[in-house]
Amino acid sequence: MAQLQRLVISASQKQASIVILKPEQQHYLYRVLRLKSGDRFIAMDGQGNSWLAELQPDHAALIEPIIFQSELPIAVTLMLALPKTGFDDVIRPLTELGVACVVPIISDRTLLNPSPNKLERWRRIAQEAAEQSERQCVPAILDPLSFSTALQTIDAKQRLICAARGASPHLLTCRLVAPSVCVAIGCEGGWTDAEIDRAIASQYQPVSLGRRILRAVTAPIAAMALLAGAQESREMT
Ligand code: SAM
Repeated sequence: MAQLQRLVISASQKQASIVILKPEQQHYLYRVLRLKSGDRFIAMDGQGNSWLAELQPDHAALIEPIIFQSELPIAVTLMLALPKTGFDDVIRPLTELGVACVVPIISDRTLLNPSPNKLERWRRIAQEAAEQSERQCVPAILDPLSFSTALQTIDAKQRLICAARGASPHLLTCRLVAPSVCVAIGCEGGWTDAEIDRAIASQYQPVSLGRRILRAVTAPIAAMALLAGAQESREMT
């Protein structure tokens, strides 16, 4: 199929075989993308369902479902202790690489307490990046949690914590366990020893991303690229 623009719609917009377009979506399709009535695009619900859609004056007609697979075989959750700056620039590449869920963490050394506006912005970036990178799903960006709460509430079959120093095994040596993996990554100041101990007590295995110390905004992208590469290289050979 030729490359078509993607647009995320919410479940409440879909009525039988039409989509009621919001004014800002009409603006985006007609004015920004310069589509015309009768032109086609892909409507996606961000939960794994997509349809070929045809633009009509004030709605879109759903022509047929589109079946494709662009998601990773394992759901990757990243618990990220919020860095002071640069989190906006992390959400887009993580979405492109296939992250399923990002949990902003308030850790012992976190200095940022994000406003609701920031969260809205991160969710908008994730949605745009999911459309652009042809994902089926838009990653969830959760409300911030304290590290202790996250250790107790975020469920994953496999749990890893990136430790910048020490002799932990490399992330790539871990055999990934379906269906879900959660990876915790520290902020600029890193994790405190007490946080690492608490994570280990909650079945998190310390892992390394290599011999160099990566910035707090580089480490999640490196971890996500390694996880995506490890899974897809097996599938795509
Ligand atoms: N200030 C800390 C120190 O000097 O040890 C470094 C923190 S680092 C900038 C931020 C986070 O990225 C770390 O807490 C860790 O989760 C992750 N990280 C960075 N480099 C890493 C590496 N080589 N292996 C594993 N994790 C790493």
